[in-house]
Amino acid sequence: MTMNKHKTSQTRTLHVRKRVALVAHDHKKDDLMDWAVYNRHVLSAHELLATGTTGLLLEKALDLPVRRLLSGPLGGDQQLGALIAEGEVDVLIFFWDPMEAQPHDPDIKALLRLGVVWNIPIACDRSTADFLLTSPLMHEAYEALLTDYTEYQQRLKKRIGKVK
Ligand code: PGA
Repeated sequence: MTMNKHKTSQTRTLHVRKRVALVAHDHKKDDLMDWAVYNRHVLSAHELLATGTTGLLLEKALDLPVRRLLSGPLGGDQQLGALIAEGEVDVLIFFWDPMEAQPHDPDIKALLRLGVVWNIPIACDRSTADFLLTSPLMHEAYEALLTDYTEYQQRLKKRIGKVK
């Protein structure tokens, strides 16, 4: 049996009012708007943030405030990734397009990777988004287990020490 070489130790609290990030690629925007309008009541209990165009459309569709980042291809996905790493995003709803390559594919991969590194709930399709939003945990505080990367950081420090 292979063991997970990274232990989990610390936790990060996802508070009752969560910071929900939403992103949709162009062919998925209608789908996300439809889903968001249907779930407006639940979404209104949380803080919303989104990449530029998605955010603009959401504000109009929901009549709720949405913190808007840059448009995805101009750096919005990277901004979101940085916010996840800084512990400022609790949930990611990301309707990415499986049928079309995007100019910012590396940014998309990086965003999804950071979501997993920091163990935040991510929904990439409508069914998962439904399951996520109807979870009782959306209305409770939740302690997310964080992977302990201390060993990795120590190895890095040693390597830097050798270079000096
Ligand atoms: P947009 O970006 O909301 O500005 O369209 C989404 C994306 O393509 O990542």
